[in-house]
Amino acid sequence: MNAPLAPGFVNGDVSFWYRSLGVPSPAEPLAGDVQADVAVVGAGYTGLWTAYYLKKADPGLRIAVLEKEFAGFGASGRNGGWLAGLLPGSAARYAKRHGRDSAIRFQREMFAAVDEVIKVAADEAIDADVVKGGLFNVARTPAQAARLRAEIAGQRAWGWTSDDVDLLSPHETATRIRVEGALAASWSPHCARIQPAKLARGLAQAVRDLGVTIYEGTPVTEIGPGRAVTPGGTVRAELVLRCTEGFTAAVPGHHRDWLPMNSSMIVTEPLANWDEIGWDGRELLGDMAHYYMYAQRTADDRIAFGGRGRPYLYASRLDDRGHTHDWTVDALWRLLTGFFPALRETRVEHAWSGVLGVPRDWCATVGLDRRGGLGWAGGYTGHGVAAANLAGRTLADLSLGRETGLTSLPWVGRRVRRWEPEPLRWLGVHSMYRLYRLADAREAGGMPRTSVLARIADMITGH
Ligand SMILES: Cc1cc2nc3c(=O)[nH]c(=O)nc-3n(C[C@H](O)[C@H](O)[C@H](O)COP(=O)(O)OP(=O)(O)OC[C@H]3O[C@@H](n4cnc5c(N)ncnc54)[C@H](O)[C@@H]3O)c2cc1C
Repeated sequence: MNAPLAPGFVNGDVSFWYRSLGVPSPAEPLAGDVQADVAVVGAGYTGLWTAYYLKKADPGLRIAVLEKEFAGFGASGRNGGWLAGLLPGSAARYAKRHGRDSAIRFQREMFAAVDEVIKVAADEAIDADVVKGGLFNVARTPAQAARLRAEIAGQRAWGWTSDDVDLLSPHETATRIRVEGALAASWSPHCARIQPAKLARGLAQAVRDLGVTIYEGTPVTEIGPGRAVTPGGTVRAELVLRCTEGFTAAVPGHHRDWLPMNSSMIVTEPLANWDEIGWDGRELLGDMAHYYMYAQRTADDRIAFGGRGRPYLYASRLDDRGHTHDWTVDALWRLLTGFFPALRETRVEHAWSGVLGVPRDWCATVGLDRRGGLGWAGGYTGHGVAAANLAGRTLADLSLGRETGLTSLPWVGRRVRRWEPEPLRWLGVHSMYRLYRLADAREAGGMPRTSVLARIADMITGH
């Protein structure tokens, strides 16, 4: 079945989130050489939060942010709006290097990052449609329900209490959100809905108001010790911070560091039949499928619904203005109407995609090589909205030479091996997702446990 498209349906054009704001035209680019204390490459959440906390800590710092398009052009202006206190990676992997307590401390910092973002948004008068309604994860097959219970048990082992996550029965789930075939759900309070582009643009304005210059339309073509080179001039700075997440593969010298993974979304027209669905609490919604989905109820009463489309383009190519293949739109719509059959007549108004960064071990990093004057943060594997705030605060502390509770978190200074050259990279990622699809299909047949195909997929790419 093909998705019914509303008249005026838009494919790409960065994202739906810019419809109400207007897609920004880049502000003044860099014209000529500039001397700064810190050069930040990339004006997504990571770069903007880093600039924000640096300038707050030391108003005298000269900070230049260099952005190839406009602030919020990347994943920060396109995401699903889950401001979620989830670890960007596996607690067990983070614990390997610094021990269990440090992973638990990291998790607590992630929970706190949700409130920090909400607080700064309020302080800076950024209206990002924030509602802290928590997060549902639903299970719709017996295998998914088994994974959900195992996930909660795993979270408890990493310090989550019953206040942090709760298992809901099918009845309890249905009283809050009516997802077709839901066998169980978890609910966690550590998640808020946001309108991603409003947060990114509001943050960019807050950073400018503090006296940071954001040069837009300014692609950095070379990053080296003490310099960031652009077509319009070079910024010389003691520190250069790379905050390019999903775009990092296009930065010279970093082609195989983080895999640019695509994620795609559709948004419906505003719904009138909410009484058939519930969802009064504006919680975020995810599921336990391998080919998972994520969704939010928007401030104007639509459903924004995302998942994997074409997960990865050969040779780490970037499809960066958000155009999305028709079959991805149709597949997301079929999944959406599987969740909510009442939406069968509902039309899709916009579809878009974006890239996020995936390190080889699926765990994020923040780091600063002080001798070379180069810093970086990212690789959040799809959990970057809250994590970028924590990363920004951490990168600011590292840049200021401060040893704080944040600079000793286990994601700081991790070195991760690079992805394989092509065609191995493409084959690995595509076979992983093919196996995930097959595993989901098998599990939908009623098998009680996770399909062995999904375990093989995890092994292939180290997920
Ligand atoms: C469709 C989608 C849905 C998602 N949903 C969620 C979600 O609901 N919750 C969640 O936690 N995470 C989600 N994520 C991930 C999250 O959005 C990202 O991890 C996060 O926004 C990364 O922020 P960032 O600033 O590091 O990178 P970006 O926001 O990608 O910013 C990087 C910036 O660098 C610029 N840039 C790149 N190269 C250069 C260069 N050479 N010179 C100058 N500038 C450059 C880009 O134009 C871009 O503006 C999603 C991602 C996508 C794509």
